[in-house]
Amino acid sequence: MNAERLAWHAHQWGRIAAMQSGARLPHALLLRGPEGVGKLEFARRLVTALLCERDAFDVDPCGTCRSCRLIAADTHPDLHALEPPDGKAQIGIDQVRELIGRVGLTAQYGGRKAVLVAPAERLTRAAANTLLKTLEEPPGDTLFVLVSHRAAALPATIRSRCQMVDFPTPPAAVARPWLGLDDEAADTALRLAHGAPLSARVLATGGGLEAREAVLEDLEGLVSGARDPVEAAERWRDLGLLDALHWLQSLVCDLVRLKNGRSAHSLTHSDRGAAMQHLALGLDLIRLFRLFDLIVEARRAALGQLNFNEQLTLESIAIAWRQDGA
Ligand SMILES: [Zn+2]
Repeated sequence: MNAERLAWHAHQWGRIAAMQSGARLPHALLLRGPEGVGKLEFARRLVTALLCERDAFDVDPCGTCRSCRLIAADTHPDLHALEPPDGKAQIGIDQVRELIGRVGLTAQYGGRKAVLVAPAERLTRAAANTLLKTLEEPPGDTLFVLVSHRAAALPATIRSRCQMVDFPTPPAAVARPWLGLDDEAADTALRLAHGAPLSARVLATGGGLEAREAVLEDLEGLVSGARDPVEAAERWRDLGLLDALHWLQSLVCDLVRLKNGRSAHSLTHSDRGAAMQHLALGLDLIRLFRLFDLIVEARRAALGQLNFNEQLTLESIAIAWRQDGA
């Protein structure tokens, strides 16, 4: 369990420490902000610090007591996680009922209990409703920590029972040294990740930039007629459906910007400005907006529907890139 203290969370730690020392820590916190800024890392470290067996609360948990070691091993009996089960997109009502049963019991170690709900926006409506009463009056000394990068999608009834802790993207000057890349690579990764350092790190080290390159190459091939749409769709599927859709959407947005007169160096993909300008020559705005709609629709379907054919959906997008003037 990663409990790194991130440099750009100093303000949020200060708030928590002040609440804790004034005995004003609420029953429920909602950590909200864009994806990739380290909210989950903060939440994990927070529950570790709160359950740490050291006498006084410290934002740096000791790491060596029984509690810290059990949390590191993901086996602390008083720390409960509410997350989508493997292979499922949502947190269901049965999981919430089971959780309520467990937090209703006395803490095994006699201290505080904690519940980590992440990503909180994945609670079904019924699951959220079932959680409400427990969230308002948790049994014993229980803290709920909800984590969400789409907090606005949570029911108002859930949000109103939580104290918000905001996690904006940090300034590049703070994120850059943490990434440990050379400045140019760090700036490219941060720009593509919209300033979110953890996402930038995944991009730079986890094959994200290569995936963008592959998608960009496919688009050039589709527009020129050199690439077969079915093959392109297969390659996108291999990259991972949501990753492929992410790059497709992000590239289309830049192409729309170019068509609207924005300069290549102001683009999200400014490091590939020449390729983007070349690609834009073969496309018009009507087609770009149609592509944008197709991609957004595919994303929605991928996140929600049960009967969803990845290959066919990606093929329809690839074909739409290729159809001349359609
Ligand atoms: Zn400890």
